[in-house]
Amino acid sequence: MKPQDDWRRARNLTVSEWRLLRRHGRALLAVAVLHVLLTLLLWWQGALQLPPVLLVAVTAGLLVPGLVYLILVESGLTADWREPSLSMPAALVLLLAFLVTAFGLNEARSSALMLFFPLLLLVSFRLGARSLLRLAVLASVGYLLMLAVAAWDHGVRLSLTLEALQWLVFTLVSVSFAVTGSGVNGLRRRLAEKNQALADALEQVRDLAIRDDLTGLFNRRHILQVLEHQKGLADGGIYPFSVCYVDLDYFKAINDAFGHGWGDRVLRDFADFALADLRGGDYLARLGGEEFIMVLPQSDLEGAELAAERLRQGWGERDFRALNGPPKVSLSAGVACYRPGETVDQLIARADHALYLAKSQGRNRVCREKT
Ligand code: GH3
Ligand code: MG
Ligand code: MG
Repeated sequence: MKPQDDWRRARNLTVSEWRLLRRHGRALLAVAVLHVLLTLLLWWQGALQLPPVLLVAVTAGLLVPGLVYLILVESGLTADWREPSLSMPAALVLLLAFLVTAFGLNEARSSALMLFFPLLLLVSFRLGARSLLRLAVLASVGYLLMLAVAAWDHGVRLSLTLEALQWLVFTLVSVSFAVTGSGVNGLRRRLAEKNQALADALEQVRDLAIRDDLTGLFNRRHILQVLEHQKGLADGGIYPFSVCYVDLDYFKAINDAFGHGWGDRVLRDFADFALADLRGGDYLARLGGEEFIMVLPQSDLEGAELAAERLRQGWGERDFRALNGPPKVSLSAGVACYRPGETVDQLIARADHALYLAKSQGRNRVCREKT
């Protein structure tokens, strides 16, 4: 497997927040659909005594906002909102629907409220401890109100003591679910933070692996991968490419006369200068020492020669004497165009040979490969 694939796979493992969010949205919608099915089943069995208008309200009141909710979350519209999963409003709508169904159920009242517990667990992945407790208390108060309306409307079939006991159990279980859920939420948060830290670290490791320490340019290993990729494109007839092998002239003398520190500084300065001079889509790497290579996709030999000549002239103007540094540092370069079927090593060797010609003809010049 290529190193890029390894990296991509590792990144997919760490950055999955978007996937989690969509899964959460679908799970909430599934709770709504389950409740609608349960309500319709109870109504069909004759256990539910709800006026038709309330039955329609529960069904449509869950399905229509449910669909709107799903579209909002899936389309990513809510991604920048404070709470992108809209867990609180969704839980409130569901709770209201549970209470309406429970209102029409009489003896089996609490069965319509059972789905509230998985709902609490589900939203605990998104809501903090306070919101969860608030939700549990709201459900308890809502239950009481629903009981009061039922008693006033058609009386309660069970004894008030039994209803009160059921309410108490519901309240206690809700609060325990909210507390457990807060723990889960804390864990999730810490995990998400670690996830992010890991993704950042991966990014840094990848950067370290492909960059040269001194100049920040791509290193030899990475540019060889780039060259293999370009070779694949050229062999497939997509487009040609050329390379330009650059070597700074008499660099040893710079180190000897001005010190290694100045030598490093000149190398960094050259890297910045050449990068700024580069056409978008071209690549620049430090092969080692004072040797660099430019990879120029979609360039033939003439194009590469022009780019190298522009760089040679521009860089030749740089002068560090005002900073008590060395005078102008010239460069020599050799350019070669990829020949389909050859290896990357063969291409580099031809560019290196052209560079040798430039050196032997007196330096400070660009030579093309011998054809
Ligand atoms: P030529 O014109 O033939 O290329 O001569 P040159 O002196 O540039 O080439 P040579 O290969 O003789 O010397 C290259 C020098 O580059 C020797 C080495 O001290 C220096 N060098 C290599 N890497 C670094 C580095 O990272 N920092 C500094 N400051 N100097 C380096
Ligand atoms: Mg050299
Ligand atoms: Mg040199």
